[in-house]
Amino acid sequence: MTEEPKKLEFPIWHDKCPVCGSTRRVIGEVKAEEVAAGKFRPEVNSALGQFAVTVADPIKMVGNLTAPLIVAHIDACANPECGVLYLVHARREEQDLSVSLDLSPKGGKPTMQPFFGRG
Ligand SMILES: [Zn+2]
Repeated sequence: MTEEPKKLEFPIWHDKCPVCGSTRRVIGEVKAEEVAAGKFRPEVNSALGQFAVTVADPIKMVGNLTAPLIVAHIDACANPECGVLYLVHARREEQDLSVSLDLSPKGGKPTMQPFFGRG
């Protein structure tokens, strides 16, 4: 067993099932079929679940201009005897917290609102 690094390093990639070792994934297989049929671009990500979670405490974020944003893709092992859900890819970005949504009647330029997920 290899020793884990003291600090989590991104990006994280798992190219095979951590339980059975299969490299076949449910959405990965369907995507490959669609790419072969010319109906899907190979460079577009696809997964069973895609999550973007900002790791920020709303009470403590005053004055903070950025917060970690974790973007993760989950897929299911295509081995019919396994089927475990696992993390395929995760990357870390810094999300700009200075942007906000202008809800005034006159409107304004549309901007992003930080997303606070569980975790
Ligand atoms: Zn598996």
